[in-house]
Amino acid sequence: MIVASMDAQTFKRLKEVYYSKGSVSDYDLQHERLVYGQPKGMVDAVWAELCAGDHPPNDFRVVGHDQLLADILAADASVSWDAVFDGFMLGCSGRWPRGRQTLISAARARQLTEHAFEGPDDGDPDRICERCGLPRRSRWDQSDETFRLYWGYAWNETPSTWWVDLDERARAEMPTLEDADVEAFAALLRAIDEAPPDETPGRLEKRLGKAKLLPGADKYRRYGILIALGEVGVLPNTSVPASYDAALTPSERHAAHEALGQSHRSDVVLPLAGWRGELGVDWARAEWMFGVAN
Ligand SMILES: [Zn+2]
Repeated sequence: MIVASMDAQTFKRLKEVYYSKGSVSDYDLQHERLVYGQPKGMVDAVWAELCAGDHPPNDFRVVGHDQLLADILAADASVSWDAVFDGFMLGCSGRWPRGRQTLISAARARQLTEHAFEGPDDGDPDRICERCGLPRRSRWDQSDETFRLYWGYAWNETPSTWWVDLDERARAEMPTLEDADVEAFAALLRAIDEAPPDETPGRLEKRLGKAKLLPGADKYRRYGILIALGEVGVLPNTSVPASYDAALTPSERHAAHEALGQSHRSDVVLPLAGWRGELGVDWARAEWMFGVAN
């Protein structure tokens, strides 16, 4: 099935479905997901059109480790790094929030190679592969995930999101990058680089919020952008290699979090969690990836 990229009208309708009060109608036991019904303010014809379209609400997917891995590799092959870097700058300038997640997804996909699930054969569907960290089985709602990409969220911990992102990016219509987008991105990096030496990622997020350098971004969107910059090493750290540079097994990642003295379930995870103000911005990397200089 050929699925179109998400248009503005569909985006608006899905926002009404997923993020307005009172549209949860049921719970799907098999997929362990909330089922969203027709929102109160949406007329029958619009709801029917949405349900029959390319992004119907409650589009639940269940995919095993080996298939998800193959799907991520196939989707990644169709997205160029130039598009990833340009899209991320458009995401930071606020002109195209959709561009943010792909910096993370492509950095993670770059380290993956085909293999079968590795781990105890105990049938636990939520167990993660000891080699790559992909779960034995992933479940998600395709339309909700796609919507959230367009809404500007980015996160590094859910492999199914990497696939949804890379697969859709091949079809998404990216605006043309303009000088103003590059300038906004460079201004963001310069502001980060002005950090006091002991600044933590949490304090950095708050400082950027006050400086209003990321238009329309709330706390979690700001974290998404900083996480992405950590994934590619533009925000360096001294704990682990950037995801762009090397793969970590789940146990190596866990040990690195322990060494950092931080709970793995904290809001901020590695590699970003290992950044401190004194490390600033890796300008050499910023230049070869994004073409911006201090
Ligand atoms: Zn694996």
